[in-house]
Amino acid sequence: MLRFMPERFIRDVLNKPDAALEQTLRPSVFAEFVGQARVKERLEITVAAARQRGEPMDHILLSGPPGLGKTTLAHILARAMHANIRCTSGPAIEKAADLAGLLTNLDPGDVLFIDEIHRLQKTIEEYLYPAMEDFKLDIVIDQGPNARSVRINLPRFTLIGATTRSGLLTSPLLTRFPIRERLDYYSAADLQQVVLRSARILAVTVDEEAAFEIARRSRGTPRIANNLLKRVRDYAQVRGNGRIDRAVADRALAMLEIDQDGLDEMDKRILEAVLVKFGGGPVGINSLAVAVGEEPDTIEEVYEPYLIMEGYLKRTPQGRVATERSYRKLGLRPATGDQPSLF
Ligand code: ADP
Repeated sequence: MLRFMPERFIRDVLNKPDAALEQTLRPSVFAEFVGQARVKERLEITVAAARQRGEPMDHILLSGPPGLGKTTLAHILARAMHANIRCTSGPAIEKAADLAGLLTNLDPGDVLFIDEIHRLQKTIEEYLYPAMEDFKLDIVIDQGPNARSVRINLPRFTLIGATTRSGLLTSPLLTRFPIRERLDYYSAADLQQVVLRSARILAVTVDEEAAFEIARRSRGTPRIANNLLKRVRDYAQVRGNGRIDRAVADRALAMLEIDQDGLDEMDKRILEAVLVKFGGGPVGINSLAVAVGEEPDTIEEVYEPYLIMEGYLKRTPQGRVATERSYRKLGLRPATGDQPSLF
């Protein structure tokens, strides 16, 4: 069962980062998790209610593009519950026996985190249904005429699934998650806080304006903001005096080929392919993937959502279509003929 702690201790753990984890950039408590205010509030209530009842949390599905904090939240949730967390991913569970091994080794109240849960094989997924719903696992032992099904009782645990493609989840799996939260791209102001916080941890001096500039060009994604901060830090160290101001940030970001709108080289290749090679679209994801030399999944999960959100691309039943904004971005205009032409 869950261990009960005195109230003060609980408050300390919930609010204070511990020294070892502080070394890393990953926030370890809700108080450090920047942005996503509504998701955070709902999850904090889930934790508080489960703790009051002395029960594990219901199963939670976290969805959203990569780098937005799904894994971070899973760790924060487990920690807030004083629960152990075991991490795996959909593709890593190759056989039903792998899943059985994971589930039977859980202690009561543990959190099982399955990243990329949409990539779980369907045959394995079916074993999860009774495990999630009734905390039971039906396994078949022996083979041929001796084969028989054995039912194993599992401890009550919390499954936290993370997915970049909640649309690919089967409905039986989806409906077994009572709590479903979607993380959205962060505002530049939120990412500025992420950059300033990470700069403190990395002990680099970055002024507010420079932090905002890095944030603005991070495609709404904390992981990218942290990565850009580290690259800009390298630049400031080698080409400057180590301090990051607006001018240093601008020069470093230009060197990294991150443009004013935060688009990187692959974003621009995608837009250029839709505009020039496919005459503005509509183009199917597979043709687009071949044209830019990238996996269709990566385009759909990583690049496209941001380009769509920013109004550079539209998704239609016929395929991807360029928008006015993407023509302007590349200095092109829709042509009256087949090919777009330069302004
Ligand atoms: P995901 O699992 O969604 O791909 P992660 O949880 O691994 O993303 O987050 C990537 C990194 O971004 C983390 O290591 C952390 O440093 C940072 N990060 C994510 N979300 C936040 C946040 N809300 N506040 C501060 N840093 C964050």
